[in-house]
Amino acid sequence: MNTPLAFPAGPDADTVVTVRGLTKSYDGRRVVDALDLDVHAGEVVGLIGANGAGKTTTVEILQGLRRADSGSVSVLGLDPVHDADRLRPQIGSQLQSSGLPDRLRVHEAIRLFAGPAATDADALLEQFGLAHRRRYPFAGMSGGERQRLFLVLALLNRPRLVILDELTQGLDPAARREVWTAVTTLRDIGTTVLLVTHELDECEALCDRVVAMRDGTVLDQGTPAELVARHAGTATICFSLPAGDETTVAAVLQEVNRLPGVQGVTRKDGRILIRGERRAIAHVGGWLVGRDEPVPADLSVEVPDLEDALLTLLEQTDLPTIGAAS
Ligand code: ATP
Repeated sequence: MNTPLAFPAGPDADTVVTVRGLTKSYDGRRVVDALDLDVHAGEVVGLIGANGAGKTTTVEILQGLRRADSGSVSVLGLDPVHDADRLRPQIGSQLQSSGLPDRLRVHEAIRLFAGPAATDADALLEQFGLAHRRRYPFAGMSGGERQRLFLVLALLNRPRLVILDELTQGLDPAARREVWTAVTTLRDIGTTVLLVTHELDECEALCDRVVAMRDGTVLDQGTPAELVARHAGTATICFSLPAGDETTVAAVLQEVNRLPGVQGVTRKDGRILIRGERRAIAHVGGWLVGRDEPVPADLSVEVPDLEDALLTLLEQTDLPTIGAAS
């Protein structure tokens, strides 16, 4: 693969964003409330939360597009307001409201956005599957191609931080996958990415760390798997056993209950319901296969995901908000 995206390291190569006690109000209403946030070099961090959680306001403040009321913000060691001229060329962004004139062609957009230190645009177009669209007008491109073009434009000036706000909103499933592949390319070459999204499967696929926000503060953060483990409860395994006498069924329930990771076994409408940690799935599966019986035809498994975790998090009212990761 060619490597037009070799971005230089900064003064503190490990910390890209440091936010402490960030507060912002509109019309007397706090929409960002004492927020702490860290983004480290090479991380893909997802900001998630309900509508109005303050995600876009936060990333706009990071880019110097809005002023904070209080708190400290450092992006690549710079203040987004006072050092705006030095910082802007180092951030590549695709905003929620991104758009281009219909008639503007891809190569013209590139000429328009390219700064003096721009990378090889043809290599970027190639890398993001747009080489054949160089002469296409914006209006003639599909949704997925447009979003990939925004990625190309965001990367053109070799940014050290890329901010993507609802990158795949409104795209069909195939186009979303295309854009995910493009973001994976960024991750693989070590680009630091801050991703604002409502698409939780996108977070699970792309993010090293997820920050869940509500009412302008961080509720919890961690890898998608950590958030699922902390907030999304247990896996459920379900199947029927052939009718047998009560003693045999009771023995089966006891046996299953002793398997690693199993937290509870019940019977409902003739079916066995097993709750447990994810590892219980493997152990119950192994146990079923190891029995001298056919594997139940109605075997089903439900595994909680990030969406379950976020819903639980957002519903909790007594949750202490937490600061940035160490
Ligand atoms: P979404 O997921 O819907 O984009 P969000 O988490 O990104 O939401 P923000 O866009 O940051 O949230 O908005 C936070 C709150 O601030 C919302 O209630 C929004 O209506 C309000 N808000 C945002 N911009 C302004 C503005 N310029 N003037 C007044 N209120 C604003």
